[in-house]
Amino acid sequence: MSDHKDMHIETKTIHAGLSPDPTTGAIMTPIYQTSTYVQRAPGDHDGFEYARTQNPTRHALQDNLAALENGKYGIAYSSGLGAVDAVIKLLQPGDEVIATNDLYGGTYRIFRKVFEPYGIKFHFTPMDDPQKVKALINDNTKMIWVETPTNPTLKIIDIKAIAALTAGTAIKVVADNTFASPYLQRPLDLGAHIVLHSATKYLGGHSDVVLGAVITNDDVIAERLYFLQNSCGAVPGPQDCFLVLRGIKTLHVRLDRHCENGHIIAHWLKKHPKVDQVLWPGFADHPNHKVAAEQMDGFGGMVSFTLKGNSFEDAKKVLSGTQLFALAESLGGVESLIGHPASMTHGAIPPAEREASGVVDSLIRLSVGIEHADDLIADLAHALSLI
Ligand SMILES: *Cc1c(COP(=O)(O)O)cnc(C)c1O
Repeated sequence: MSDHKDMHIETKTIHAGLSPDPTTGAIMTPIYQTSTYVQRAPGDHDGFEYARTQNPTRHALQDNLAALENGKYGIAYSSGLGAVDAVIKLLQPGDEVIATNDLYGGTYRIFRKVFEPYGIKFHFTPMDDPQKVKALINDNTKMIWVETPTNPTLKIIDIKAIAALTAGTAIKVVADNTFASPYLQRPLDLGAHIVLHSATKYLGGHSDVVLGAVITNDDVIAERLYFLQNSCGAVPGPQDCFLVLRGIKTLHVRLDRHCENGHIIAHWLKKHPKVDQVLWPGFADHPNHKVAAEQMDGFGGMVSFTLKGNSFEDAKKVLSGTQLFALAESLGGVESLIGHPASMTHGAIPPAEREASGVVDSLIRLSVGIEHADDLIADLAHALSLI
């Protein structure tokens, strides 16, 4: 359970859920690298029995994450997909999930290849129009899975409008908030029931750890998720929890710079003669700009673009021609990354489905880092000159 309700998020990142170590006064949460805890007599202990079930470093991270999302409960997992796995295990065979169609590739894969064979049905639909979601709701619908901004086409889904569809029903809205981070968007405040993170990205922020988390205000969901965390065992190690806690302390200053650089680079790309479309929710002519401006506190550091002629060969030249932008999967670290969704993160999605969701052959995705914008622009200018 977290306190710190009245603090600004810039203070919560540094203080929420954290207190000096009771044994030494260490200001930083120690890495409790232990598998078990000594009991004074059978059952006579301080609430710590076995480290899959309880670990003070993990508890500190969970409380901190809960506070950042304005939630009561935080539950951490060994990866973002470990968190996805736990959330889908809230369901039973026969249940149905409506998910956004341009979903993170790994989430799509676990839905289709792992959970569909267990009898859970998934519908995929563009969610920038809530009416399309409404049309798919039936008596078996138990969950609506939102990811916004979407990956990699950066559409914006109106979380409030989606949550309104579930009023008076038992349907739970899950929001994967990885791309925005709690600094830019807090889905629980907008009516979502469950927030999910790959902390591997902006929360960790330094490309040095893989970790996932779920945050909720719902007592029943939280109890079940703690049960699943312990029963299924996808818990993060204490060192990884420490790294994410450390990363979170600068979340707000990093995100301010990610947003600033994202803005500069999106505008620069828009004027480039070899660039066709620039996908960035900060543009006034972005189809979901109004929703983005309302539900987000900034437009983030993710920018995608396509090339005139839409050729994979041209895209390859750009992708292999940058030096500062490293060609790699992932996002949200301090360093800039460049990626090709059609062949990398979204390779698991069948081509027809992929193109229908806008992931065309020349689509390039940037995770704009916090370097100097002028250096990043020079790097992109050089790479685009290779076409
Ligand atoms: C990376 C990512 C995930 C999966 O997280 P891992 O930590 O890599 O397991 C889930 N959702 C989104 C939006 C992601 O970017």
